[in-house]
Amino acid sequence: MDVLITKFRNEKNCVGLAAPQLGFHKRLIVLEVKDDPKLKKWRPDLMDTLPQSLWINPSYTGSGEEKTLDYEGCFSVDGLGGMVARFKKIVYQGYDAEGRLIKGTAQGFLARVIQHEVDHTNGTLFIDLVPESELLPIEFYRKKRTEALKQGRESVNETR
Ligand SMILES: [Zn+2]
Repeated sequence: MDVLITKFRNEKNCVGLAAPQLGFHKRLIVLEVKDDPKLKKWRPDLMDTLPQSLWINPSYTGSGEEKTLDYEGCFSVDGLGGMVARFKKIVYQGYDAEGRLIKGTAQGFLARVIQHEVDHTNGTLFIDLVPESELLPIEFYRKKRTEALKQGRESVNETR
């Protein structure tokens, strides 16, 4: 657990990390989504936040059918990004380090981060959810987002 938390803290702009990414075949994830104005600008659907948390055996289910499309990248997939459809709202559950049950709902960007990290514990990477032709250098998606922000578009997320 300590290795995971240390690595998480040492990474800049890191919102989530899963044990399998460090070669540990454990169902552990670390998450933190702050109410950071910079992050909020970059991810306009950031609504719910979460202090740094370690979850054991986490899982989620979609709350409703609605999905949103946004780009994702990953430490385990060097340099690539892609648009991933994720549930807009989820119900999640897991256990904390003391074995207490954690349960809640999340929406927007936090829901996306939870889905991405829980998928890691199930052996699924975001690239498994993106058509190969849409896997592009992550810089492409970042540039696109920067330009959209410059044009002052209120919402840069596409929804499907
Ligand atoms: Zn990842």
